[in-house]
Amino acid sequence: MTTEHHPNCIFCKMVAGEIKPDIVFENDQLLAFRDINPQAPIHFLIIPKQHLPTLNDLSDPSLAAQLLLLPSQLAKQEGFAEDGYRTVINCNKHSGQEVYHLHLHVLAGRQMTWPPG
Ligand code: 5GP
Ligand code: ZN
Repeated sequence: MTTEHHPNCIFCKMVAGEIKPDIVFENDQLLAFRDINPQAPIHFLIIPKQHLPTLNDLSDPSLAAQLLLLPSQLAKQEGFAEDGYRTVINCNKHSGQEVYHLHLHVLAGRQMTWPPG
């Protein structure tokens, strides 16, 4: 896998080890770490190590599968699978995406509301 490091991307800096987040999981393809501004008692982000700006840029089925399978794995490990959790991927302007390195939010530890804002 080619991991292109984008020098101005904060999440690429985490992958490169230049910034040290609170890591909850790491393998060859993915990194998961706690959100710096948590919106729930448990809030972490799962990112591909490869720099893909948005969900529109994700095409590798294997990477897509890994990204979608990790939340439940971590939820079971951390003990909130049964109570439940929310996964969110913001994409582009209408979603309010702020960091343009693809990431999946995992939020847990409180009752969520629907619809989202
Ligand atoms: P977005 O709005 O792009 O879906 O979400 C970006 C998320 O990245 C936000 O929840 C924000 O708190 C988080 N974030 C931004 N900068 C940092 C950082 O330097 N460290 C960590 N751990 N999270 C960050
Ligand atoms: Zn990046």
